[in-house]
Amino acid sequence: MFKNVKSLVTPVASAVKTSKGSFSAVAKPQPNPNPEIQFTGIFINNEWRKSSSGKTFKTLNPATGECVVEVQEGNKDDVDLAVKAAQKAFKLGSEWRTMDASYRGVLLHRLADLMERDRLYLANLETLDNGKPFNDSFNLDVPMSIDVLRYYAGWADKNHGKVIPMNGQHFAFTRHEPVGVCGQIIPWNFPLLMLSWKLGPCLSMGNVSIMKPAEQTPLTALYVAELIREAGFPAGVVSMIPGYGPGAGQPIVEHPGVDKIAFTGSTEVGRIIQQTAAKNLKRVTLELGGKSPNIIFKDTDLDYAVQMAHFGLFFNQGQCCCAGSRVFVEDAIYDDFVGKSIELAKAKIVGNPYDPNTTQGPQIDEEQMNKILHLIDSGKKEGAKLAIGGGRHGDRGYFIQPTVFTDVQDNMTIAKEEIFGPVQQILKFKNVDEIIERANNTMYGLAAAVFTKDLDKALHMASGLRAGTVWVNCYDSFSPQTPFGGFKQSGFGRELGEYGLNNYTEVKQVTIKVPQKNS
Ligand code: ADP
Repeated sequence: MFKNVKSLVTPVASAVKTSKGSFSAVAKPQPNPNPEIQFTGIFINNEWRKSSSGKTFKTLNPATGECVVEVQEGNKDDVDLAVKAAQKAFKLGSEWRTMDASYRGVLLHRLADLMERDRLYLANLETLDNGKPFNDSFNLDVPMSIDVLRYYAGWADKNHGKVIPMNGQHFAFTRHEPVGVCGQIIPWNFPLLMLSWKLGPCLSMGNVSIMKPAEQTPLTALYVAELIREAGFPAGVVSMIPGYGPGAGQPIVEHPGVDKIAFTGSTEVGRIIQQTAAKNLKRVTLELGGKSPNIIFKDTDLDYAVQMAHFGLFFNQGQCCCAGSRVFVEDAIYDDFVGKSIELAKAKIVGNPYDPNTTQGPQIDEEQMNKILHLIDSGKKEGAKLAIGGGRHGDRGYFIQPTVFTDVQDNMTIAKEEIFGPVQQILKFKNVDEIIERANNTMYGLAAAVFTKDLDKALHMASGLRAGTVWVNCYDSFSPQTPFGGFKQSGFGRELGEYGLNNYTEVKQVTIKVPQKNS
């Protein structure tokens, strides 16, 4: 996982550990920039269909801007069909509802096995559709997705209720029941990983899913749909509807037959989703944006902190909701920190994501690229010092130069708005009391990090920071066991870990009257 920063800054590791052990040795995986595209349809009832409207949309290669393939564009009619299939699969007495919970775990493990079998293909496809370096797709995205599925496979028969002694001549027990039909709407920055964060707990707890991948990156989700069929999940348990947000996502959120929405994406769309879902009081969990503070005290290992701050911002081309996009550095080490950060940004190799030496690929699309360039302009205009980068890289595809702003002030737009790109903001601070307040002065609360060797200070910061995750002396250290989610306008609900099960279970209590002895 992200435990060892070294593995992230060196090209292709030979194997990645999973809960099952090491992946079968693909010692030197051969990236293939032209993976055969096999599935572009709508997946309902374990079958591939064309869109009801007859429409298709293009998915582009962000490294070139060229069309990869036309994909079927789902709409309300397709969602209606998927809901019917999902409701049938979820009906009492159905194969899915009567299946042993442990067998749901077996199916999830099988899916993980199939993804492991096709790891190289999935990594190639992810890089083609998303633009992330193949090294990352192969060593992080695919294995981490598999890890999450295996983790939740293990929970399938372990999340059960309690027996509760109660007042009077009764006793109660609780059942953890599935919520039902879950609409799962995922973003483009980690297409496979977000799929696994959503499907893992949903299926483990016996729900059924209608998933909409992002319009920019439908391809790996569609391939996984075929693996779901191959693994042996009953028809209707998972539907995959590619399409646009308003055309395919909104009908899922509006549909009265959908019981719950799980969404990861922008805060702006999260707000729309919550409002729409409120009409029929669907359960909603949202994982939204962030402007995460990364606080570097002078009593830290400077080189390590610089490296982690660089990684915490530039990882995935800066397209992480938890990117450490406000790096606060204590004044005594500020100049050294800035100098070393610029050196790291300068050393980045931007370009062809299939080249094993590449450390930064393209942004996802032209819209995101232009948004980032616009925010860079605002930084310059508002008086931040542009230390390196600041423009587009090349004229083909959607690449941005690794960019570092220094002398950033809290009230500048680049210190307040989510940039979602390879643009690092470095700010200066003087002491602990000041920094907690400044770090918390944002509408977001997804993540935060602290670098210090002083345990008291670290714990003081960890309790004062208003964020769903606080990393101490690390950044982006994810693992299937630990919950992730936001305070404030970064959303609500927690994904991963045991906490992630709550989103996918309803607690039912059954109260039983115990007859009196002599009655
Ligand atoms: P980003 O800003 O990162 O592109 P979005 O929040 O726009 O992300 O999109 C995340 C996911 O939400 C995508 O799958 C997108 O198609 C979907 N989406 C966008 N708008 C809506 C909407 N109004 N209703 C439901 N889903 C939507």
